[in-house]
Amino acid sequence: MSTSSPLPVARMVSFEEARHLVERHAVGVCPGAVETVDLLAGLGRMLAEAIVADRDFPPFARATRDGFAVRAEDLAEVPARLEVLGEVKAGDWPEPGKCSVGRGQAVGIMTGAPLPAGADAVVMVEYAAAAGTVVEIQRSVKPGENYVPRGAEARAGQQLLDRGRRLDHAGIAIAASAGKSRVQVFRKPRVAVLSTGDEVVEIDAAPGPAEIRNSNSYSLAAQVQNAGGEAVRLAIAPDERGRLRQLIEEGLACDLLLLTGGVSMGKYDLVEQVLGELKAEFYFTGAEIQPGRPVVFGSCGAGAPARVLAANSPSKRTRVSMPHKKYFFGLPGNPVSTMVTFELFARTMIEALAGMTPQPLIFLRAQLKSEIRTKTGLKRFLPAVLSGEFENAEVELARWQGSSDIAALARANCYLVIPPERERIEAGEWVSLLMR
Ligand code: AMP
Ligand code: MG
Repeated sequence: MSTSSPLPVARMVSFEEARHLVERHAVGVCPGAVETVDLLAGLGRMLAEAIVADRDFPPFARATRDGFAVRAEDLAEVPARLEVLGEVKAGDWPEPGKCSVGRGQAVGIMTGAPLPAGADAVVMVEYAAAAGTVVEIQRSVKPGENYVPRGAEARAGQQLLDRGRRLDHAGIAIAASAGKSRVQVFRKPRVAVLSTGDEVVEIDAAPGPAEIRNSNSYSLAAQVQNAGGEAVRLAIAPDERGRLRQLIEEGLACDLLLLTGGVSMGKYDLVEQVLGELKAEFYFTGAEIQPGRPVVFGSCGAGAPARVLAANSPSKRTRVSMPHKKYFFGLPGNPVSTMVTFELFARTMIEALAGMTPQPLIFLRAQLKSEIRTKTGLKRFLPAVLSGEFENAEVELARWQGSSDIAALARANCYLVIPPERERIEAGEWVSLLMR
């Protein structure tokens, strides 16, 4: 029943070109407003402020072993007998006037305690035998051994974490060490998730014999959340122009629109046509990959002046001509294609909108467990199982029926990357993996 309107000019690109296009656009997006949250609520969020050392790290010369603080020159010849002046444990402060190590002297010291004045090394307790106020030491030490000098890790005022970095558990430890109980992060971008297809039904409805539950809205919402966005799940769009257009317009009110389904060449694949009606600009309408070949990336509304930005901008001259673009991705509807193309392309845009400095896509390497034969021409990202203990990791393809096989993902824990020119990869070769 559909009347055909012209499709946008097809633009099929290599995987690498598709990535570069997304990265180039991601660099130019503006993150949202800044908000201040409790440190732990900042987990996974992008820092809107740099975290700076509020004092030297460590704040004092800190012993890294239990033993005796000594002057290394007193142990030039061993065994040596030294006079024990006392003991410092973690939390004690050895006042230089009261506790400093002179020639022929030592102070008992515990890991984490400040090194007393005069000492220039710590000798481990394993090489010392103390009796009363005397200790006999069996081993020499070099100056600087077994303690970290004050400020050696970072100086007061030094930047520890950059703005635009995702706060992970290590970042939380760093912020906590700098006394930041609250941190400034960027507002999460709102990402509309729009599933399309006459056969797609809500997951709590009883599906008819030819109907498919809408798993994509849920996997995408989870991936959006994981990337640092807030997912806004829209109603399911039928394969009908009017309603599809309405829902696309609703989605374009968010910071980013993710569509699934309806981007192939079928008679009822209307997504590109409707986006074309909305004057979308298409950066690519396909990538030479499997799964996910029909993936689409573009934007709507380019060129319209961003009045809101201009009014709020401290520098109106630089912001006034900024085009008010809304990006979208049309992801293929097959569930595995949807997930893979999200990780390959959409994640980067969400991270950028969330305030993260764009990062290159990182692939791990592992040895192939059993030979692969495939056709050339597409870069493949196939569900695979990484196994083996400790350094003996190896990877093999998971059994699957193709990009609709969601059950295969239960057996897989990564995607194995097959370069487009390879027909055969032998067991034992090193291959690239995308972790999921
Ligand atoms: P399409 O990309 O629209 O041609 O859809 C490709 C395949 O993915 C079809 O078999 C659809 O039934 C399936 N599919 C499309 N959308 C969804 C969805 N939201 N959840 C699960 N499967 C879907
Ligand atoms: Mg469809």
